[in-house]
Amino acid sequence: MTEQTFKDRVALVTGAGRGIGRAVALELARRGAAVVVNYQKSAQAAREVVQQIEAGGGRGAAFQADVSEAGQAQALVKFTLETFGGLDILVNNAGITRDTLLLTMSDDDWDIVLKTNLKSTFNCSRAAVKAMVRKRYGRIVNIASVAGQMGNPGQANYSASKAGQIGFTKALAREVASRNITVNAVAPGFVETEILAGIPAETLEAALKMVPLGRKGQPEEVAWAVAFLASEQAGYITGQVLGIDGGMAMM
Ligand code: NAP
Repeated sequence: MTEQTFKDRVALVTGAGRGIGRAVALELARRGAAVVVNYQKSAQAAREVVQQIEAGGGRGAAFQADVSEAGQAQALVKFTLETFGGLDILVNNAGITRDTLLLTMSDDDWDIVLKTNLKSTFNCSRAAVKAMVRKRYGRIVNIASVAGQMGNPGQANYSASKAGQIGFTKALAREVASRNITVNAVAPGFVETEILAGIPAETLEAALKMVPLGRKGQPEEVAWAVAFLASEQAGYITGQVLGIDGGMAMM
């Protein structure tokens, strides 16, 4: 990949004000893409990501949308098409956790995690694929998780949503392959973002013992892999799940 890998490409990254989404937006912009930085609550952070993109000579725009709501996801895609004249790369990154053991998991804990992590992926992909089919080009990268491959105690809702994203990735990959659209997922392990703040320190320390590389990952390490899958050169890779987990799940 070069600095110009995404020249003339338009990318939309959901939940890009902070964490992994922010790193992905910056990486795609650094390599030449015009990037829509979606956020739900982190307005100031999203504005700062756009400022950073523009300071580097790139093009970016922030847009508020709760991507778990179909109408708002459609508005986000419409904004992207109108602002930058197309949509080549969609990164479904927005995600939350509501960790608790099954016996104490409320209906709301289940519903909001499935809606935010999985329904959002459906919402944004459905809206984006329309434009990609017309153009006969597209790259969709879903940010799943090692929890969707291995399961994680206390995360039945989150693990189900991430496994769902993986199934969705494979089904859609088969559906749109003939239109030159690839659909892949990455499955990060423990990556240093605010999402880890909800995990007790001793649980995290014990979990890190399962990581052959013996450390947490950085958002930039996920971003680099996402950029690879989003590149034109990765055009013969579809329906795959790339682990970015320090070797935690060797599938
Ligand atoms: P994070 O720092 O907590 O960021 C979560 C992001 O999701 C925020 O930008 C947030 O936006 C956005 N978001 C949440 N609900 C949204 C909604 N309804 N609409 C639009 N945006 C929404 O977490 P992260 O670690 O970067 O996680 C990013 C993705 O990576 C998630 O899908 C997560 O499951 C996955 N992942 C993370 C890890 C890890 O260890 N960090 C491991 C595996 C997978 P606002 O702040 O604007 O609300």
